[in-house]
Amino acid sequence: MDGACARAIEMGLPGVAFTDHMDFTPWRVDADELEGFDHLKAFVVGDTLRPPGMDVEGYLRCVDRCRETYPDLRILTGVELGEAHRHGGAAAELLGAGRFERVLGSLHTLQVDGEFFEPPGLFRQWSAARVIREYLAEVCRMIEGSDAFSILAHITYPLRYWPTTADAFDPVEFEHDFRQALRMLADSNRALEINTTDRFSPQIVRWWRDEGGQALMFGSDAHDPGELGRRLAEAVEFVEAQGFRAGAYPHDFWMA
Ligand SMILES: [Zn+2]
Repeated sequence: MDGACARAIEMGLPGVAFTDHMDFTPWRVDADELEGFDHLKAFVVGDTLRPPGMDVEGYLRCVDRCRETYPDLRILTGVELGEAHRHGGAAAELLGAGRFERVLGSLHTLQVDGEFFEPPGLFRQWSAARVIREYLAEVCRMIEGSDAFSILAHITYPLRYWPTTADAFDPVEFEHDFRQALRMLADSNRALEINTTDRFSPQIVRWWRDEGGQALMFGSDAHDPGELGRRLAEAVEFVEAQGFRAGAYPHDFWMA
């Protein structure tokens, strides 16, 4: 966290939000899915990864320390809340224990035959198009089934694992599915995250606006200080091209 703050200052970013993961769903993993994720290996028993709880007190102490060390940086608390529609009680308990200024609703896993899989496991079992359709349908169920989050994280999450053997991803093929999820998000007065890890399609921002979306924010999903603010300038450019404008303060939502 200290490294991320130092990096933010170095880059001239006015603020940073720490939205640590809280995943509640245990999921089935293959050993090759954990390559590059050594810190997760300790949570695997057999072929199931059981994510740990969040040390909320420790997290908030670290945020306070960062705020003391970097008084000129606006540091927001937050959480990437995993699949709150399936874990309403646990999600409410977590939010009750902390002061989270940014609550991202995040969908990572889908269920197949009673077990949950991340996209690499889904792409092994389903066609690429089916993974995207089922993912967006579950995004709708998550929006409908939980009001614990105010921002939808990474709507294009499965694309990080799009199979090299499949045809190139074309968002237009899934326009109906994207629009449906975006409309539900807009109707519930929530914001869309532009996650700059993903090659975000400007079309999706246009559909967001068409479907009544008013607010969006940027997230670099950095798991390492070096990734902070990646492709932010590019994202700002296409968001502005769709008519969204910055708020009064840099950490405000961008509005249509
Ligand atoms: Zn995520």
